[in-house]
Amino acid sequence: MDLQRIVEETWNELADERGSGNPARYIPALALVDPRKFGIALATREGEVFCAGDADEQFSIQSISKVFALALALERHGPGLWEAVGREPSGDPFNSIVQLEREKGIPRNPFINSGAIVTTDRFVDDRTPEQAVGDLMSRLRRMGRDESINFDEDVARSESETGSRNRSLAYFLADFGRLMNPVEDVLSVYFRQCALAMSCRQLAESSLFLPFDGTDPVTGQEMCSPSRSRRINALMLLCGHYDNSGQFAFEVGVPGKSGVGGGILASVPGRASIAVWSPGLNRAGTSMLGAKALSSIALKTGWSVFSGR
Ligand code: GLN
Repeated sequence: MDLQRIVEETWNELADERGSGNPARYIPALALVDPRKFGIALATREGEVFCAGDADEQFSIQSISKVFALALALERHGPGLWEAVGREPSGDPFNSIVQLEREKGIPRNPFINSGAIVTTDRFVDDRTPEQAVGDLMSRLRRMGRDESINFDEDVARSESETGSRNRSLAYFLADFGRLMNPVEDVLSVYFRQCALAMSCRQLAESSLFLPFDGTDPVTGQEMCSPSRSRRINALMLLCGHYDNSGQFAFEVGVPGKSGVGGGILASVPGRASIAVWSPGLNRAGTSMLGAKALSSIALKTGWSVFSGR
């Protein structure tokens, strides 16, 4: 299969639709990004990366970071983490608070904001926020094989300044006794983790552990056990796009995680890791063109977790 041709064809077919959807404006720094950006990177087991468009430009990965936060929190706490966060799709927007009261401060899953605030808290564990951020950075640099990976301080500040909703979620969690660390410490790590700047190429390469049973097939680095990576994939399929997860599974058919920076990371078990980026979002906060690109790649390759081919 000529994957470079598939990636390029997909990009060319959708190029006229660049700028569709609405970039996130509730984080002011994100509203400054050129809405016509569009990149695709597909990384394989053999270490090849097939790219098109703005695949080497870094963007704010936002909620895609929740996948890394989950893997790292599980590494520190093991299955005990599931006492603090659930594994069910929420059917509600990513920043919703409504289910938290009913479920006594146990978020429905680790990929909505409340759930990610909990996984971030557990990742911080007994360390200072600075130590935790330092650890997160060095892990991602190692996995992405790129020392330049960093977070964007302007985006982190912008998020913090306009972060009333996330503060509400975090204080609500704290009121139920669900956080180990002071709220502002947890949020300072959460905002920086969301503000991680990575390119499609870096994202695709650093997430190869997801489609390949927990171990990067290129470097041999083990991120987690096979059963854990399968479970993270399961959660991505069911909860990776908030109240848009069903639609994504229907259209694309592989686990994915979207972020309001316009990136989507897709894991195709046994085959590839794919990252796409286009800032315009649909109503649920998933990149409009990004989802279309992934759906087109899935169609052209025949890849789907629902197919035995
Ligand atoms: N940083 C964003 C927030 O907390 C992440 C949301 C997202 O990407 N869906 O609101």
